[in-house]
This record gives sequence, structure tokens and C-alpha cells, in this order.
Amino acid sequence: MRSGETAPHVSAWERQAKTEACRLTPRIPTAASQGRLPAVAAVPRQRAYTACMNRAAIENFFATLRQANPLPVTELEYTTVFELLAAVLLSAQATDVSVNKATRRLFPVANTPAKILALGLEGLESYIKTIGLYRSKARHLMQTCQILIDQHGGQVPRDRPSLQALPGVGRKTANVVLNCAYGEAVMPVDTHIFRVSNRTGLAPGKTVDAVEAQLMQRVPPAYRVHAHHWLILHGRYICQARKPLCWQCAVRPYCDFKPKTPAP
Ligand code: SF4
Repeated sequence: MRSGETAPHVSAWERQAKTEACRLTPRIPTAASQGRLPAVAAVPRQRAYTACMNRAAIENFFATLRQANPLPVTELEYTTVFELLAAVLLSAQATDVSVNKATRRLFPVANTPAKILALGLEGLESYIKTIGLYRSKARHLMQTCQILIDQHGGQVPRDRPSLQALPGVGRKTANVVLNCAYGEAVMPVDTHIFRVSNRTGLAPGKTVDAVEAQLMQRVPPAYRVHAHHWLILHGRYICQARKPLCWQCAVRPYCDFKPKTPAP
């Protein structure tokens, strides 16, 4: 929010909150250079300043995203929790589109841990070889299926420690399963969310863990379950890495990124 503007979606939560002191924060964080995320943007350094969004702006930011898309869903295609787990495991450093192309052929044939194991490693690889890093992903998925059968009755566990104990399943993948399959208010942070959180001033942080912690603290409770999808979709289609489409952005009034990209 700019000073003097009226917040159209101000909650009691927001009204009680004091305006936070803004601080200048490097817009392009260093996690990519630390090897924790792929590089996300090539933006001139002189534009790399963003102030922290205040709580009124955060409330309006999410109210606007919710109004446009009340029930956002992942673009990964799945019909069971196991399919979701497998799809997310396969999606690391790959696009949802490429994963969907592969799983549209794989899942009709094998969509349970037992059926995946029955394919064998080479059989599984033949279905997913169009996805980057498919050899290691196939190995991890086979190992994961074996553990699900041996330790979880063939079901996907609902607790984070058990999920993160599965080969190929890190904190982000576990968070996606907990959020998308079980509706838990957790914040998987991918490259889009990392970028949008820093660029807008929503939840600045130098690492994905720091951004996740900031989001859990700063996103109002009413928006936490769906915040993950709103931010991913916003980053994928509007607040894009190389050139954010600010001139057609619905949350532009609440974003502290400067200067905004002008209309072409
Ligand atoms: S105004 Fe621009 S930088 Fe801000 S959220 Fe929208 S697209 Fe991203």
C-alpha cells in the first residue's frame, strides 16, 4: 500500500498490526550463487532494491490473488497421493509440463509403489527419460517405493520426518505433499516463490529456508494454505524471472519492487 491509500481488504489481523519498518534488501538474493537454487534471473544490479512490504500491503496482496483465483491447484497432474509424490519427485529442476507428459504415459501403467517396482529400473526409465536427471530420479523413485511398501504399508506417510526420509524427497517435496495432498498450511519454496518473495518485499531472505520462515511468519493465517500456489502461479505467469510483467500485474499497488516494468 502507498501512504494515503485505503486498504480495500483490511482484516482485523492486519488492523492490529503495526506497520513494519522497511529496510532496503538486495532484490536478487544469493542462494543461487550458493548452489541452493538454480539461477533465476539476469537483472541489472542497479535495479536490485526492494523494501519490505508492510502488513497492510501483504493482506491486500493475497486478497487480490485470492479474488482472481479462489481455489488454486498445482499444475502437476495426479489423482492419488502417491501419484502426487511421484510427480513432485520427478519435477525437481524440470517443468511441470515435461513431468505431465511423462506421467500421462506412466501412471496408467504404474501408479502404485508395487506397480512401479514391477516395472524395474530400466522399465521405469523408459517412461521418464524425457525428464532431466531421469536416471537418478528413477533410482530414487524405486527406492522410495520399496520403503513405502516395507515401512508404510504402501501408503504415503503424512508426517514430515517420514516423508523426508524417502530417497529424492527433500523439504520442499515434503511440503508440497503435505500442502497439496493433506491441506496443511506449509510453504514449499521453489524458484518462483523464492524470487517473488524477495522481489516484492513479501518475505525477503537469502536462502530458501529463510524465505520459508519469513512466509510462515508474514502470510496471514487465512491465506497460508493456498499461498504456495498463488505465489508459484504469479511467479510463473506474471512476475517472471527476466522481465516481470508489472504493467498487467493485479498486485502492483502492493509490491515494493522498483522500478516497475513499463508497458511495452
Ligand atoms: S508489480 Fe512487477 S515486480 Fe511487483 S509483483 Fe507485479 S510483476 Fe512482480
